[in-house]
Amino acid sequence: MAELRVCALYPDLMNIYADRGNLLMLQRRCEWRGIDFAVTAAGLGEAIDPDAHDLFYLGGGQDRDQRLCALDLVQTKRDALHAAADRGAIVLGVCGGYQLLGHRYELGDDEIPGLGLVDLHTVRSADGSRLIGNVAIEVRLDSGATGPPRVLAGFENHGGRTHLGAGEQPLGRVLKGHGNSGSSGTEGVRRGSVIGTYLHGPLLPKNAWFADWLIREACGLTELAPLDDALEAAAHAEALRAAGCR
Ligand code: GLN
Repeated sequence: MAELRVCALYPDLMNIYADRGNLLMLQRRCEWRGIDFAVTAAGLGEAIDPDAHDLFYLGGGQDRDQRLCALDLVQTKRDALHAAADRGAIVLGVCGGYQLLGHRYELGDDEIPGLGLVDLHTVRSADGSRLIGNVAIEVRLDSGATGPPRVLAGFENHGGRTHLGAGEQPLGRVLKGHGNSGSSGTEGVRRGSVIGTYLHGPLLPKNAWFADWLIREACGLTELAPLDDALEAAAHAEALRAAGCR
């Protein structure tokens, strides 16, 4: 029987904009299909087992909480997360969590260290201005896929501007909103099973198709039983409408 084992990193500290709703979404969609679901929380000072989870989740947070978590990530969890990513476990970072997947988050003269799972860095704007609003991005998750790209819709609110290294691929192309830096036209990052995005509010209830993609990838399944997604489709349509897409 299939099982999805999730490790929620700092669920209390990194949970801005109800990002924990992403975990509920994964749980419900697994349970409705008879897929076992287990979630383990890993907080400050707690080591993690890279082989014990299929998906590691790091939500968004304010600069202060982010700093606490960043130091702890680097000290107690970095090697395990690299090992997990190397064996293909999903590592999903949202907003503040996304920023911590990279090398560093620069705040003026100060700097928060990152995990270095992907080649990117984030710089807080000198004037403190934030990139805020509804956002929609166009994504292609499956290599070689020929159909039209899918769309993720959500909300962003970040002071940091994220810059991808030359060899790094974004998660998507900005249709509406600001994305990584407000000027690059890119949003998020995707390197194999490591995915980062600024979209929250939270991300998965507005994009059920993406929740299912994560479940499939994390569990190594080729297909999932269909669900009645009338409400989910309405939520997605509303998020697209809010972003000015339809
Ligand atoms: N503190 C980070 C920033 O402002 C991330 C904020 C968030 O997670 N919404 O850039």
